[in-house]
Amino acid sequence: MSKTMVLVFFMVLWYIGTSLGVGTMKIRMDIRIGHGYDLHRLATVEEGGGTMVIGGIPIEAEIGPIAHSDGDAVLHAITDAILSAIGEPDIGQLFPDTDPKYKDADSSTFLVEAVQRANEGGWAIGNVDITVICDQPKIGPYREQSCTNIQKIIAAPVNIKGKTREGFGQGKAIEVHVVALVQRGSQA
Ligand SMILES: [Zn+2]
Repeated sequence: MSKTMVLVFFMVLWYIGTSLGVGTMKIRMDIRIGHGYDLHRLATVEEGGGTMVIGGIPIEAEIGPIAHSDGDAVLHAITDAILSAIGEPDIGQLFPDTDPKYKDADSSTFLVEAVQRANEGGWAIGNVDITVICDQPKIGPYREQSCTNIQKIIAAPVNIKGKTREGFGQGKAIEVHVVALVQRGSQA
């Protein structure tokens, strides 16, 4: 191959490259995190507690959450983490507990709405990390089922860790911390 042919070959490659935008276009990855937190007091039915539900999975327990909706603290905290990451109003603003529409509401509808808002903004959920602090009932036996259910809604890896208060305090409550990562590509 002569030098001229080599030169022409590379010029053609350069032309194809620039016409496809290669070299001039840069894809930038936007990554954000959001933190969500929720707490519900737990009580017997007589005391006003509802059915215990963790990440969309109902659990047989003597005590359940006192809440306007179904009181699923895990789904509430994930919803807030995602909304926070994408800069949307929080769960209390979007789904006020004074609105009769949300009485005994299935909290997965809140999470579905948060994911939809994320997707509309071009965001995909990267992963979600959850810590549940609860002495009773034990959430360990339901962790896998709960993870699978949440993964179906958010289409991303989910991890749940269960903790107790190590006997500190007498409060019957479920407390949940969540960190969610969202990502989207944008043309720089
Ligand atoms: Zn809540």
